Amino acid sequence: MLRQPLLMLSRSDKVKNLVTAMPVSSGIVSRYVPGESTDEAADATGALVESGLHVTLDFLGEDTLDREQADATVNAYLDLLRTLSERGLARNAEVSVKLSAVGQALGSSGRGPESEGEKVALENARTICHAARNAGTTVTLDMEDHTTTDSTLGTLRELRKDFPETGAVVQAYLHRTEADCRDLAYEGSRVRLCKGAYNEPESVAWQAKHDVDKSYVRCLKVLMAGQGYPMIASHDPRMVDIAGALATRNGRAQGSYEYQMLFGIRPDEQQRLADTGEKVRVYLPYGQEWYGYLMRRLAERPSNLSFFLRSLVSKK
Ligand SMILES: Cc1cc2nc3c(=O)[nH]c(=O)nc-3n(C[C@H](O)[C@H](O)[C@H](O)COP(=O)(O)OP(=O)(O)OC[C@H]3O[C@@H](n4cnc5c(N)ncnc54)[C@H](O)[C@@H]3O)c2cc1C
Repeated sequence: MLRQPLLMLSRSDKVKNLVTAMPVSSGIVSRYVPGESTDEAADATGALVESGLHVTLDFLGEDTLDREQADATVNAYLDLLRTLSERGLARNAEVSVKLSAVGQALGSSGRGPESEGEKVALENARTICHAARNAGTTVTLDMEDHTTTDSTLGTLRELRKDFPETGAVVQAYLHRTEADCRDLAYEGSRVRLCKGAYNEPESVAWQAKHDVDKSYVRCLKVLMAGQGYPMIASHDPRMVDIAGALATRNGRAQGSYEYQMLFGIRPDEQQRLADTGEKVRVYLPYGQEWYGYLMRRLAERPSNLSFFLRSLVSKK
């Protein structure tokens, strides 16, 4: 119930200034974001890999409106990929990229097929895909709000011509997603299915949790029966159980799909699944631009709010 008001409130500059005055080390931030630097992210990755988990790293940042910042984000990914490779972690750790962080919204005469931003984002994503391949790993394109879905899937199609291993993300709360899953369920296609984290209008997205969950199951059925590689991104115990049952029904061996969960959320369940032989990947965000990410996590789980407000007051 609080999800939409919280996501709207998070757009206020006053709230942003207040919240971003907290250091990354404060309890509520560090629960979801293990650090700001490449080394801290690599240390956290090493610990997860050590315990049998896989990782996808997200250098935090979104809605970049200038070219320099987009270039800085690309460089951060190149530095990260070099570090993962040097530390022998690239086999078990890939990267997740938000196209809005590498230029998708630049030039803003719109996000149409010819927009300047789209060209910049495609070239930047290509650079990151090259570096990932050289390091021996892959890239997944995160999905953002619904105004970017067509553009992001278009960029994915272009990238897959040279880098077919590039992962897609689809959001079950959008009405269109079951059809997108059918289009994407082909051999070799890595597809992360999540519920969706943005504040979307009724015209494009289901609003009630019950409807989103039903859509998630329909999409899961399409992906698990298809030829691709489903990545089940959910902490919801029912979705995890249904995915397991669908794997059995479709004769899928462990490792022909994977579970994904966010850093800091249900870590015991992440470990339990890995201990039963499932492939489990932890989404690990790092960097200074943690505000948007943190607010989406709080909006999903309003019971975290009292903890959050205490952190704000004590400014630890
Ligand atoms: C690996 C991964 C990648 C993602 N990538 C994207 C993306 O590219 N685009 C996008 O829009 N969204 C993305 N998401 C977020 C996703 O869309 C949901 O917003 C988020 O995962 C919560 O949905 P849920 O499936 O866990 O189910 P919910 O029904 O929201 O939650 C189920 C249970 O999970 C636990 N839980 C959920 N959220 C929290 C929280 N914040 N804190 C503590 N416990 C919690 C609770 O026990 C809750 O009862 C991603 C999620 C994951 C796991």
